[in-house]
This record gives sequence, C-alpha cells and structure tokens, in this order.
Amino acid sequence: MTNPHNAPPAAGEQTAAVAKALRALGVDLDAFAGPRETRSPATGEVLARTVEHTEADVDAAVAAAHEAFLTWRDVPAPVRGNLVKRWGRLLTEHKRELAVLVTAEVGKIESEALGEVQEMIDICDLAVGQSRQLFGKTLPSERPGHRLAETWHPLGVVAVVSAFNFPVAVYAWNAALALVAGDAVVWKPAEATNLSAIGVDALLARAVREVGAPEGIHRLVLADRVVGRHLVDDPRVALVSATGSVRMGREIGPRVAERFGRVLLELGGNNAAIVAPSADLDLALRGIVFAAAGTAGQRCTTLRRLIVHTSIADALVERIAAAYGTLTIGDPSAEGTLIGPLINRGSFEAQQAALVRAVAEGGTVVAGGARVLEGEAPEAFYVEPAVVLMPGQDGVVQEETFAPILYVLTYDDLDEAIALQNGVPQGLSSAIFTQDQAEAERFLSASGSDCGIANVNIGTSGAEIGGAFGGEKETGGGRESGTDAWQAYMRRATNTVNYSGQLPLAQGVKFL
Ligand code: NAD
Repeated sequence: MTNPHNAPPAAGEQTAAVAKALRALGVDLDAFAGPRETRSPATGEVLARTVEHTEADVDAAVAAAHEAFLTWRDVPAPVRGNLVKRWGRLLTEHKRELAVLVTAEVGKIESEALGEVQEMIDICDLAVGQSRQLFGKTLPSERPGHRLAETWHPLGVVAVVSAFNFPVAVYAWNAALALVAGDAVVWKPAEATNLSAIGVDALLARAVREVGAPEGIHRLVLADRVVGRHLVDDPRVALVSATGSVRMGREIGPRVAERFGRVLLELGGNNAAIVAPSADLDLALRGIVFAAAGTAGQRCTTLRRLIVHTSIADALVERIAAAYGTLTIGDPSAEGTLIGPLINRGSFEAQQAALVRAVAEGGTVVAGGARVLEGEAPEAFYVEPAVVLMPGQDGVVQEETFAPILYVLTYDDLDEAIALQNGVPQGLSSAIFTQDQAEAERFLSASGSDCGIANVNIGTSGAEIGGAFGGEKETGGGRESGTDAWQAYMRRATNTVNYSGQLPLAQGVKFL
C-alpha cells in the first residue's frame, strides 16, 4: 500500500515564514548572523545562518549569569514568579509564531508544534504556583528547646543542554522552575534548532525587561558539542540539565561528576507497549499508531517495541499495517499531514541500517520502511513508518534508532511480556493495553515495568507536565516537571536552632 502524500513546501516558502515569525517575535536576525546553517528538514534548504559562539562567549555568558544570580537569589520567590508569569503570557501571545519555527526547524506537524509550545505555557503556570510553595519541613528535635528545619535555597547557574526533537519545551521545563527557584540559566540548544531558541530567548528577554529582573539571568549559547563541553565543565555551573542521547549522557555525566557538579540527565528511550488478549483493540490501535509513527518516530517516548499476546498478534499487526498505510506523509505544515520528515540524512541512514540489521537478525518488514518524496525534495528525508516482526530482541532491538520503526514481539504469559518490556538497557516509558485490572496492577507493581513512566490503556508518548517526567537505567534517572522537580534546582540546608540556653549534644554525647 502506498501512503497518501503532501508535496514538500515550495522553495523559499519556509524561509519566508521563519523570517516573518522571527520579526513578530521582535528578533533582528542580522544581529545573530554567522556561519551556522539551519536547514529545513522538509526541503533541505538553508533557513538562516547564525552565529557560532566560542569558548570565550561561553565564559562571558556564565560570568553574566553568575553575576545576575547573586542578585536574583535574594528576590522573594513569589516576585520571581512574576517573571515566569509574564514569560508565559508572551509565549501564549506568540504561540503560533513559535510553532512555525518548530515546524520549520524540526519538521513537526503543526498540531504537534503547537502542542510543544503549549507545554511551555503549562510549565510556566506550574512554576508560577510553585513560586509560592518552595517549602521546607520542620522536624521535631530530640533536644529540648531546639528547632530543626530544612530550608531550600537557590542553587546557582543552571546549564540547559537540549535535544533537537523538543527544541523549545525542554528548555521551558528547566528554565521556568529554575527561574522561580532563584537560579540563572544558560541554554545551549541543539545545533539544528538555533532559530526557535533565539525566538524563545527573545520573549524571555522581553519579560525580564518588563518586570525589571537582572538582565543576565538568562543567556543563550549557540554552539556545537565541542564548545558545549566547555559549558558543562565550568565550575560556576552548579547544575547541568542535559537532554539527548545516551552517548551524550555518558560523556557529560562523568565530566560533571569529576568536579562534583550536579547533573539531571534525560536520555534516550526504547519504549514498549504490551497488548494483552483482553485489550480494547480499537483503542490500542490508535494509541499504538500515534506513539509509534507520530513525530516520525522522533520522540524520546516513541513506541519502539510492541509485545503482543500470541493469540491476537496476527490480527493486530494486520490492522496496524493497514492504519500505517493511511497516514499522510509530507509537508509538515500542510493540512492533513501526519508524518513529517526525519531531521536529516544521518537519521535516514540510521533507519535504513537498522532495517537491514533487523532482517539479517531474522526480522520481517511487514509495512513501510521506504523513502518517499525523494524526487520532490532530494535533500529531505521522508520515510514510511515501518513495522518489523522480530523473533527476539537480542540485537538491533536493544538500541534506540531515532526513526519510525516498530518492532513486534510476541508473548504467551504476562511474566514473559514484562521480562521482555524490561529487557533493554533504557527505562523511559512503557504501557500495557488490557481490560484485566489484575494484569494492569501487576504491570504497575514493584516487579512490573521498570520504567519512569508506566501507563495503562494509553500509549508511551504524550506526557503532561503535572507528572514527573524521566526514566531509569540508561535513560539517566533525571526527573523534570511534576510535583517535586523544583528541588533539583535548589540546594537544601538543615537548620538547628537552639533557644534553650543550654548546650545538650545530640545522641546524648557529653563533652566539656
Ligand atoms: P544528542 O545527544 O546528539 O544532542 C543533544 C544535545 O547535547 C545537543 O545540544 C548537543 O549539542 C549536546 N551535546 C552532545 N554531546 C555533548 C557534550 N559532550 N558536551 C556538551 N553538549 C553535548 O541528541 P539529539 O540527536 O539532539 O536528540 C535525540 C536524542 O535525545 C534521543 O536519544 C532522544 O531519546 C533523546 N531525548 C531524550 C528526552 C528525555 O526527556 N529523556 C527528550 C528528548 C530527546
């Protein structure tokens, strides 16, 4: 079956849309002129050329941020919240322009790009409320006339290193909470997404000016990973919050640990859904197709492994393959498109190599996998999402290939399914589709899914900012958003206050 197509955008169309969006955001792009090319994944054309910051620029950014932090930390937290409130309003006013930038740079379809900007707005709301609730605990002291308390203080400069596939939301998850926590933020976005970063930062700069916050509390560093290393190595950076591949986490984690800095790592996933015989298959089908094929398979939470009960596997796979064939591929800003392009040639080559390996390991490609629209856009990489039946998961299935490939495995009993679900190095998101409550509870129990996210009757992607987001094992253990994420951006002091006039020592120790 051939998927319906929407022709890629005409030459120059996206460049014009980007220029218009940036103007509406108050950005003078000439001020950022430089050698770094931002290319449209939808056409391959160069959208803009922007500055490449150097190590000296990083030093200056961290110095400015640290200086601003020294003032910002003493501003009352609810007053700091006003900055984030204003930023959130500006993001709301300019939601459409920011979404245009996300679509142009990443190739996300319009509704997903708008959804990503909405996530920024949502975290601003959460952070504003949180600015009045940075609470510590008061504890009973074992000594009479003593008070024991925990107090949370601002941490310092937070470096945010973000991945290409969530070019704006991930920054806001970090920045909104860090700013109410009293920190300053230095942001290094992915190399491919400078333009949306410039747009987002311009709105934050405006909010900073309007509320009279110290100008240096946010800094944008447009740089590659080599200069990025200089940022993460800087001892003035108290926390490095890094989102990206496991490879990146392996590099950054030890470097920051070496200098006893803090890290918050949000790394790759290899997410699975179990489909039990009792599942509502209509609902499961929709959840699976969105999670596996949506965003062209380029979410950290993308569904990459389907673990289906043997009794329903053939029927379900047939329905998935049929649904895949109806997905419109092409111009991400065109109405009706559900699958946009891959980010670049490297991604396409990784997808093709993974399919070749899967077949060599005994897999059968039952749907998709081919490149399409090559004639219309030779420098863009559109692919049909693929479904591959696998005899086991020892080889290529262990790896996160950042493209739409869904590996299908089968199981006979739930323990076997859970063992398969947990049998990969990553631990981000997981799901079970079942109508059997006991099965669902077993999946959510301590010996069930080992992931940071475990869902029932919903796919693996599409989290809300109210819940903690992040994963275990090679996914890095970090948590962003959610009820207590703010604590990652603060330091805790324990205070013992003695108002007894005596000096009793703890544990009954006698001295002098
Ligand atoms: P990537 O690892 O190539 O790059 C991510 C960021 O890290 C970029 O800004 C890059 O410049 C920077 N970087 C890489 N090495 C660095 C180093 N040594 N020092 C400083 N900076 C360095 O990832 P990507 O291709 O942009 O994004 C896709 C990956 O991100 C996937 O693996 C995906 O699963 C993961 N991701 C995870 C989450 C999550 O929350 N767990 C969210 C989004 C994406």
